[in-house]
Amino acid sequence: MGFNSAVYQEAFEIKRRRQHNARLRYEKALAELYGANPRLEEIERELRGIGARAAIAAIAGNEEVVASLRESAEALKAEKDAIYGDDAFEIAEYDCEACSDTGYLPNGQICDCVKAIAKEIARKKLCEEMPIGDSRFDNFDLDFYSDTAVGNTTPKKRMTQILRVCKEFAENFDSHSENLLFLGGTGLGKTHLSLAIAGEVLAGNRNVIYGSIQNLVNKLSAETFSYSGSTDVSDSILGCELLIIDDLGSEMSTSFSQSCIYNIINTRMMRGLSTIISTNLTLEEIEKQYTARVASRIIGNYTLLQFLGADVRQQKAINAINRK
Ligand SMILES: [Zn+2]
Repeated sequence: MGFNSAVYQEAFEIKRRRQHNARLRYEKALAELYGANPRLEEIERELRGIGARAAIAAIAGNEEVVASLRESAEALKAEKDAIYGDDAFEIAEYDCEACSDTGYLPNGQICDCVKAIAKEIARKKLCEEMPIGDSRFDNFDLDFYSDTAVGNTTPKKRMTQILRVCKEFAENFDSHSENLLFLGGTGLGKTHLSLAIAGEVLAGNRNVIYGSIQNLVNKLSAETFSYSGSTDVSDSILGCELLIIDDLGSEMSTSFSQSCIYNIINTRMMRGLSTIISTNLTLEEIEKQYTARVASRIIGNYTLLQFLGADVRQQKAINAINRK
């Protein structure tokens, strides 16, 4: 996973703050401990003195002295254990033990704790424009969907089912949840439900990325053609636990966008990671607009949810005018 240097710089900055805070917490806890048990501080000081004398005696080859110092040390440790009693506790000196908060492992590699921070920064940058706002399940209004029959169902019945599927998806989400394909015209609530899912899943501290297809393709294109070697955008899009692609089919179709879309859908499928796609296209149009391998992967591996109804945004606008 390669992050660009700006992301790493920011990650190390955060790491330094965490290191500082861990140090402050440690010193405060130690001061409280010694305040309550002054003898503990004395024991620690004596143990340090014994350690230094033992080292000197060992160099001088004075085994008798070394043995007697070891005995004293053991007695002090026993006394210390007795003071702690059953409440023996370790004060964490570091936020990350693996690198002692330096950010680097003994072999010189960057520690996982910094990589995790970098990953989170990269994800946040991608999600900055996630417009969750007011799109929640509890304000998804089924009254905008009619009871007039469409085939063997009604828009209200269908949307009640879809709302339930989406809620269950968000509640039971794990990174290997199914893939969903939201089909239907403009203004039927596809984006509202996508964002409601994103909000719930994010609240469970899951790694979610939401973006319109054009936006995702633009970001991948900027990264690919910057030739910086950075892969944080593609790593995030291909590796996040839930990816929500809004408005598939609205992008400017180029060979780059086609290969991006195939790569996203195929890689996430191979990794068993969940993806939600919403589109105004019909299945026939998906088959026409994309290569056979893209279309077959979407149609074959996604749960299809056909939204029904009349444009909710238009209805809301009409209601607003009627109220005036
Ligand atoms: Zn670390």
